[in-house]
Amino acid sequence: MKILGIESSCDETAAAVVENGRHVLSNAIYSQIAKHRPYGGVVPEIASRNHVAKLPSIIEEALENAGETYDSIDAIAVTYGPGLASSLLIGYSAAKTLSQRLDKPLIGVNHHEGHLHSVFMIENPPAEEDAYPMLGLLVSGGDSSMVLMKAPGHYEIIGSTIDDASGEALDKAAAILKLGYPGGPIIQKTAEGGNPKAIRFPRGLESVDRGKWVYKYARDLCFSFSGLKTSLLTYVKNLDHEPEGQELADIAASYQEAVADALTMRVERALDRFEIKSFSCAGGVSMNRVLREKLAALSEKTGVTLLLCPPPLCTDNAAMIAGAAYEKVRLGKAANEPIDVNPNLRLADWE
Ligand code: ATP
Ligand code: MG
Ligand code: FE
Repeated sequence: MKILGIESSCDETAAAVVENGRHVLSNAIYSQIAKHRPYGGVVPEIASRNHVAKLPSIIEEALENAGETYDSIDAIAVTYGPGLASSLLIGYSAAKTLSQRLDKPLIGVNHHEGHLHSVFMIENPPAEEDAYPMLGLLVSGGDSSMVLMKAPGHYEIIGSTIDDASGEALDKAAAILKLGYPGGPIIQKTAEGGNPKAIRFPRGLESVDRGKWVYKYARDLCFSFSGLKTSLLTYVKNLDHEPEGQELADIAASYQEAVADALTMRVERALDRFEIKSFSCAGGVSMNRVLREKLAALSEKTGVTLLLCPPPLCTDNAAMIAGAAYEKVRLGKAANEPIDVNPNLRLADWE
């Protein structure tokens, strides 16, 4: 089964064709990063205008690169939330129109569900019975959560950030250090050759406090990144000069270390607390080299299999949306098409 996926939740205009949920036939992406860079973050109006301008040609490109046509695909999948309302609407309208015009099913996908599924889009994914129950670490620009998946489409959030997302923490750090946007890749690059132990930045909610709760989550499985950002701001303000060279590399490396450590620490606790066969990491921040190394070391230490998102699918793309949609079809959960976009869509179990 070949699914055309469409993704426009933020500032990537993307379309892809995926066969049977795993085999990526094409993955076309127009990244608007350059358009938003002058503003230091995503400007919703600029994002939606560029989605309108680019989506038609990106869909054509995805079909052409896959050697497919509108007639040869079997279904259309689209991100219907969470994300920017004005951005989501462009992809959703296009997908809905195509679905009606071509008389092919429309499958709505939660963007985060797409990220979580992306770890299976590899050469030899593990069999379902070897992967589940799985602990998914979702680390993106808008969210940082740990999701316990007992089976495909079964999501229980067991810990979450109580303020900033990890990607946001990296983006804000790069802004504080006047390094540009987006921050994740720039912090990683700036940190090269830096000493990760030079400065001890906070890991957020550091006292273990077992038995305490934040909302409905165990406090010691939650993340907090806003104090980390403030601590960097204070550190930089207290310097009587703008850091550069080795000093800048040390700051970036120490900050990156704090983010990666804060994430890995909670994953280790979760692995200890729940019966889990594998754990995974997806979303833009899963590109990060230090985080990948720390998680790999944890896998080594615990003997629990780790699935890392393949690098081309870490940041936003439509292949992960088409992939997740196939899972819904495979398990007979794709019947109801979304009737509208939902900017605040939460991860929820398939009925
Ligand atoms: P969400 O998925 O929650 O809606 P989003 O779609 O904006 O948010 P993603 O595209 O998944 O987020 O990820 C973007 C984030 O990934 C940005 O915050 C960016 O800084 C971060 N990122 C990208 N590359 C790296 C890297 N090498 N190291 C760390 N962070 C990175
Ligand atoms: Mg983006
Ligand atoms: Fe994303």
